[in-house]
Amino acid sequence: MPRSDVVVVGAGLAGLSAAEGMARRGLLVVLVDRRVRVDARVRTTGIFVRRTLEDFDLPASCLGPPVRRVLLYSPSGRALTLESLKDEFRVGRMGALYSRKLEECLRAGVRWLPGTSYLGAEPHRGGSRVYLERAGLREAWGARLVVGADGARSRVARDLGLAENRQWLLGLEEVHTAPATSRPPAFHCFLDPACAPGYIGWVVEDGESVHIGVAGHARGYEPAAALASFRARAPGLGALAPGRPLERRGGLIPVGGVLDRIGCARGLLVGDAAGAVSPLTAGGLDACLRLSRYAADVAQAHLSGHPNALEAYAGERFRSRLVSRLALRRALDWGGRSALLLEAACAVLRTPPLALVARHVFFGRGSFPLPAPPAPAEGALRLWG
Ligand SMILES: Cc1cc2nc3c(=O)[nH]c(=O)nc-3n(C[C@H](O)[C@H](O)[C@H](O)COP(=O)(O)OP(=O)(O)OC[C@H]3O[C@@H](n4cnc5c(N)ncnc54)[C@H](O)[C@@H]3O)c2cc1C
Repeated sequence: MPRSDVVVVGAGLAGLSAAEGMARRGLLVVLVDRRVRVDARVRTTGIFVRRTLEDFDLPASCLGPPVRRVLLYSPSGRALTLESLKDEFRVGRMGALYSRKLEECLRAGVRWLPGTSYLGAEPHRGGSRVYLERAGLREAWGARLVVGADGARSRVARDLGLAENRQWLLGLEEVHTAPATSRPPAFHCFLDPACAPGYIGWVVEDGESVHIGVAGHARGYEPAAALASFRARAPGLGALAPGRPLERRGGLIPVGGVLDRIGCARGLLVGDAAGAVSPLTAGGLDACLRLSRYAADVAQAHLSGHPNALEAYAGERFRSRLVSRLALRRALDWGGRSALLLEAACAVLRTPPLALVARHVFFGRGSFPLPAPPAPAEGALRLWG
């Protein structure tokens, strides 16, 4: 049976980042994904916020033009316009970005197995025997650590006895080429409980592409019908995005906050599999990059014999730093289905002092919070930076 230090399951942004980080730290890494190409079947809008753009060196060629303007619409259509002097958002050219990340993985020495499905794992010699299927053939790999980067419904989480997501939004969007227009790039957010209960409908236009989407609480939500109805109601969309979309993207977005048990001696969860998504904004890309880098440190420390490395990878250490966002998520779950309440909240947000709160939500330098790494135990190697 072939062996490696780590098998990473899933080559989305979380898996690609974790695999590269672990390989750069000297670990022998195998990366598998059931997709044959990483740039196929993109699921995300790809909006990166300023803090991520500042802290991570994302290639400029994989990012669309900057967006500095947000318009927040109440259910009756009254807009609050927020302008920033800074570049607040950029929409990733996600196919290109995933391909670029894969090249970096290969340069770091990652072994890439495309078109390979993870079937399961069982305990084996202190690690795992991992079952994979490629081109109809089954094979087993020995791994000291399995990294579950396999998305919101993680099979790795279940097999390792780790926590699983239970609270989701369901999102769907269509992507169009931007028309030749002189409109400034903008992020339009529609509070519309009929089309997007508990979340927003969105239109992002950056002069290059137009993304039109909705998301709502997963139970009983029909995203295709909601998107059609949103398109019919939102003003001006017909002219902005005429004809058939280039692509449709969508899927589940876990919004219950980081899960409590995301690591054990046999493996770690990253990205959506770990519930690492902002419960308020439903943004997960910043969390993919930060948590994966942190997981790479933990994996290296754990596999080098650091006695308390895994203590640093406990979900409650992250959750305690997400308290206000979890509270706002509960408020949205409760009030976000009532047009009356949302209209009143928007009227309050349009008053000058509270417009600052809206600015903070959209333009604040928030990011996925990481706890401090543990102090090295006495006599242990100092592996933390
Ligand atoms: C419609 C929508 C819009 C969004 N927009 C934004 C946004 O603008 N900004 C933002 O910050 N966040 C956004 N998010 C959230 C963000 O996209 C996710 O949090 C992030 O992409 C999760 O990445 P991931 O690598 O954890 O998971 P994924 O990208 O889902 O990757 C999981 C990978 O695992 C593979 N896989 C799964 N099971 C197996 C198996 N058994 N065997 C082999 N491979 C397997 C899949 O093929 C997939 O490639 C959006 C989400 C949705 C659904």
